[in-house]
Amino acid sequence: MYKHIDISFPKNLLQRIILKYMKASNYAGYASFWKTAYYRNSYYLSNPKVVKHETKHLEDIDRDGIIKYAIMYSYYQIKYGRHDNPYEVAARKAEDA
Ligand SMILES: [Zn+2]
Repeated sequence: MYKHIDISFPKNLLQRIILKYMKASNYAGYASFWKTAYYRNSYYLSNPKVVKHETKHLEDIDRDGIIKYAIMYSYYQIKYGRHDNPYEVAARKAEDA
């Protein structure tokens, strides 16, 4: 249902932009609004915790819809910060599920 892609060697402009964003933000993975999670390299893609974390974000996006997710994620980032953002707390919990 979801795609998981290693973009250490980006195949197109979109992947190049996402990879740059992940490196600048120091993210191992990035859950997109189009049912695809991207990973900085094969190490992260082969790490079940990282994949579970990004899958949880993809499920949240499906459940809440893109607009609500984008608004609430941003709102929570401002209100609670990245570590305590409820979406991130739930994703970290999913890593050990
Ligand atoms: Zn996350």
